[in-house]
Amino acid sequence: MLSRKELDRYYRQIIFPDFDVRGQEKLKNSHILIAGVGGLGSLSSTYLTRAGIGHITLVDNDHVELSDLNRQILYQDENIGERKVDSAHKRLLEMNPHVEITPIFEKIRKENVLSIVKGAQVVVDGLDNFETRFLLNSICVKENIPFIYGGIDGLNGAIMTIIPNKTPCLTCLFKNTPTEKKDFLPVFGFVPGLIASLQSMEAIKLLANIGTPLAGKLLLFDGKTGEFLLSKTNKDNDCPVCGK
Ligand SMILES: [Zn+2]
Repeated sequence: MLSRKELDRYYRQIIFPDFDVRGQEKLKNSHILIAGVGGLGSLSSTYLTRAGIGHITLVDNDHVELSDLNRQILYQDENIGERKVDSAHKRLLEMNPHVEITPIFEKIRKENVLSIVKGAQVVVDGLDNFETRFLLNSICVKENIPFIYGGIDGLNGAIMTIIPNKTPCLTCLFKNTPTEKKDFLPVFGFVPGLIASLQSMEAIKLLANIGTPLAGKLLLFDGKTGEFLLSKTNKDNDCPVCGK
């Protein structure tokens, strides 16, 4: 049940007709995993915390660096050198004390990925590499957990929601791991900001069961022209992750 303070805090969401108090209660009873609290994860964790998701697990094994601060809005100069999950934990609780945050300072690997995703109802991608994304994609398909893919490069962004056993998965979409050319991709803060906002929207829609998710549809953003392109994706029957 929501307290009087929570009802006031979330009032502007609660008055949304399809959402209502029941939608807010669903968020409060939800547990999500945000994989990576960099540019994407800084923003999705902020919106999802403020929206009142009851339990958020953050996983990341990086420390805050000066060159993160153009886009990783959870951090500031005084956090440089700190573990991102610890700074994020503290900052998010300051934003909303009604949310439980579990920080995990670990690199996601084959050996720990199952225990990390266990119990989450939605996994939000905040990663910076495809190897880990594919690992998460495959465990989410196996464990039947929706996975909200988000990626950025320069002025380009992409997002797709994967519903296991219903929609194509990330491996169907990319077939092979895309080659990652550089150690550091160029990035302006507003691109992860945009993509992570859309990921937060997707997570809330799935958890509260409102609207239609971007399931089976890849939304691409081209910042150079300001254009969005929505394309239907196809399931690969021979997909090693989700194929028959
Ligand atoms: Zn697949």
